[in-house]
Amino acid sequence: SQRRIGITGGIASGKSTVGSYLAINKGLPILDADLFARDALQPGTPAANAVLKRFKNRIISTNKDRQLIDRHKLGEIIFGDKNERRWIENLIHPIVRKRFSQELNLMQREPIVILIIPLLFEADLTSLCSEIWVISSTRETQMNRLLKRDGLSRNSAENRINAQWPLELKKRLGDTTIENNNELQKLYLEIDKLL
Ligand code: ATP
Repeated sequence: SQRRIGITGGIASGKSTVGSYLAINKGLPILDADLFARDALQPGTPAANAVLKRFKNRIISTNKDRQLIDRHKLGEIIFGDKNERRWIENLIHPIVRKRFSQELNLMQREPIVILIIPLLFEADLTSLCSEIWVISSTRETQMNRLLKRDGLSRNSAENRINAQWPLELKKRLGDTTIENNNELQKLYLEIDKLL
């Protein structure tokens, strides 16, 4: 039967890094929840229209005469306000879930499929996976990566880390934890063993 490996973990813990390795070095097909969530907010989609209507001028960036969502401004709002985050999650998660089902249907012949889902537990998408790997980093490593990679302020980085379920809880709920605080070679070795 098909192996559907769910990759989750904390923010900036290394999920995309693991996904890239599995795609490029192992040639495995990847389904990425972040891409699906982004697609859901493409201009003209019902979800994009709902977001524009709710947040109006706080997030609108105008390009030619099209109204577009400024993803950075939207991020600042939803990671600073729990109610708004809940609202947008309720809007987006069902769309993402449906997209996963559609894509998995097209991949039934693949022996292994990788599903990268940052909010796997929060959005209750565990039933899509046959096994779950939790990618874990210390809070300090997460923080350093967020400051460096995303140029976030310490406060914004804290907000984003705190917006997710605690990593300790995710580690208990997953099937395996991969600790990612060291060199990439160590991470890759660990992945090879699990595969
Ligand atoms: P997000 O939750 O924000 O989507 P993520 O979990 O996908 O993040 P990555 O983007 O894979 O995390 O990693 C975060 C940053 O840390 C990236 O810039 C990545 O290159 C770097 N990184 C990840 N793992 C390592 C490592 N073992 N050594 C050095 N840098 C790393």
